[in-house]
Amino acid sequence: MTFARFLLAVAFLPLVSLVGTACAAPLEREYDAAESYEFIVVGGGTAGNAVATRLSQQLPDSSILVIEAGPFAPDEDRINIPGFKGSTLGTKYDWNFTSIAQPQLNNRVITQSRGKVLGGSSAINLLIWDRASKWEYDSWEQLGNPGWNWKNMIGAMNNAENFSSYERSNYTGTTDFGTEGPINAVVNKYMPMHQDMWLPTFDNLDVERNTDWLGGDNTGSAYHSSTIDPSNYTRSYSAVEYLPRAGSNLKIMLDTEVAKVNLENNGDRYIATGVTLLNGNVINAEKEVIVSSGTLKSPPLLEHSGIGRKAILDCAGVEQLIDLPGVGENLQDHPRIQISYQLKDNYTSFDKLKVDPDYAAEQYTLWKQGELSAYDYAASAYSYQNWSSVLGDKEADLVEAAKRVAAETNNVVNNKKLIWLTDPLFSGAIAEAEFLLSDGYSGNKGYPKKEDPRYGKGFTTIFAALMHAFARGYVHINPTDASAKPEYNPAFVSNEYDMKALVELSKYIRKIATTAPFSEIWVDEYEPNLEVDTDAEWEDFVRKNVNTFYHPVGTCSMLPREDGGVVDSMLTVYGTSNLRVVDASIIPLLVSAHPQTAIYGIAERAAEAISGAWR
Ligand SMILES: Cc1cc2nc3c(=O)[nH]c(=O)nc-3n(C[C@H](O)[C@H](O)[C@H](O)COP(=O)(O)OP(=O)(O)OC[C@H]3O[C@@H](n4cnc5c(N)ncnc54)[C@H](O)[C@@H]3O)c2cc1C
Repeated sequence: MTFARFLLAVAFLPLVSLVGTACAAPLEREYDAAESYEFIVVGGGTAGNAVATRLSQQLPDSSILVIEAGPFAPDEDRINIPGFKGSTLGTKYDWNFTSIAQPQLNNRVITQSRGKVLGGSSAINLLIWDRASKWEYDSWEQLGNPGWNWKNMIGAMNNAENFSSYERSNYTGTTDFGTEGPINAVVNKYMPMHQDMWLPTFDNLDVERNTDWLGGDNTGSAYHSSTIDPSNYTRSYSAVEYLPRAGSNLKIMLDTEVAKVNLENNGDRYIATGVTLLNGNVINAEKEVIVSSGTLKSPPLLEHSGIGRKAILDCAGVEQLIDLPGVGENLQDHPRIQISYQLKDNYTSFDKLKVDPDYAAEQYTLWKQGELSAYDYAASAYSYQNWSSVLGDKEADLVEAAKRVAAETNNVVNNKKLIWLTDPLFSGAIAEAEFLLSDGYSGNKGYPKKEDPRYGKGFTTIFAALMHAFARGYVHINPTDASAKPEYNPAFVSNEYDMKALVELSKYIRKIATTAPFSEIWVDEYEPNLEVDTDAEWEDFVRKNVNTFYHPVGTCSMLPREDGGVVDSMLTVYGTSNLRVVDASIIPLLVSAHPQTAIYGIAERAAEAISGAWR
């Protein structure tokens, strides 16, 4: 027997002792490369760790292996401290994908971050925890997936969640949140002073306050929650919250990339027999292979395994085993735009942590001591709105554009989005826009350079994102070099509706900023500047600045096969009997929320389905 690799195996600890406490450190054990496992999970990310942990609990006699391409980083401040959010982007913890040139954006490329570390993107994301409207989850069922509705998803999301801010005045909902799940969520204890202007400004814009935003209606203005463990103000994410709850039947192999899933023909269906690693080693799976490699990595992994569109596989020199043209298609994201404002000098912004080392050291010490600190901060002020709330009677113009795009694209996903815009039952209820206050400067221009008189000043940024863009991009195996990063095309604002919508969102950000009392906190619009005013100028701004909200989904969609589906409603890949996909890529239609809450819910539901099948 060769002991080729080290892995982390999770110590079994009684569940009761873990609830609400900081994580227990996993134990190191030797990994036997020759062993086979009943279940192999490819990717120890957000969904991967959640599904693996639940399988370990629900099937205590089964062996489960999680294979993760990245390392485990339990002591990494840049992951653990909420105020360091964003600092891991572009580092070794990030796959750092780059899109193909986007002709509609003056040939710009878009960078897409994805976590390459145990915990995946839940370890590097911006910690926002919220939910969409109930109708949006119901739409997954209406698209042909029995059981994938609000009722079941809210149960599953609650199983993942320990929301502990329900006694605070900014959350008064009494149901529809979980208090015993692994992932901690709190409304942040640290609020920058200027955030106080957010809710009164929306009052003046006639947008109602929403203090029950986890309950299936997210519209209005609110302070939302972040994935933070309130006991020590550290990031709460899948690696440190789920895995310590698993039994000793779960093993984890780190720093190891899977090259492909091995498939064997069994008459009318293929059986997944295991995986081949990049180094050529094979690990067998006796029962199932579960692909949880994320929206940009799961499709290329299927393609490397021979599942996908023939023309794409031929180009990359891969023999096609299963003809599934939907693999890698239907990529949806929330395209976003942002405008930043220079604050009056009496407001302390998040920028101070970056430009004033003494202040940063003082705040770091406070954080270490468990005192209130600027490093506790993660964005927490929001407004989700429908178009009539944003645009009033100008909404009709936009809806006409959507009708033209939907007619041209004619697919089930965009047709559903059109219904939400045109049917009064939904158009007044489902959010089409999100506005988000993020303290500190964010944007393309960059924080002022040292020689600029504005260096050292504080800024704040308002983001806006389009919730149901009609653009659908793709991600595929690289046609010229199958071992290279995949070809990623987000196709942002590649149609008339998305562009018009982003222009309107930009204008509405300006409207928020110039409405009292928000209008009283800033001295100048730093990016772009107050001279940008006509639709043509805003369009130019959008082309130069639109970016991702880091929410790509949909590339292994759970849809009927004839609608471009890759997995069925049990998350089994069409044409196989025991290969599933469990991650963000199965979401057929992106909802109006930051997606991690739903992704944990998907993993919880998947574990129930898989363990049910093998009990
Ligand atoms: C910068 C950023 C900010 C975000 N902010 C928020 C937010 O505030 N709120 C929110 O709700 N959502 C946010 N998101 C989105 C959210 O975090 C993701 O949608 C979600 O975490 C994706 O989960 P997943 O399980 O699909 O994939 P991931 O969590 O990315 O997991 C995939 C895992 O698979 C591993 N892997 C990939 N390929 C292989 C292979 N071949 N072999 C072995 N391992 C492999 C990866 O290393 C990774 O660990 C953000 C994302 C990013 C990147």
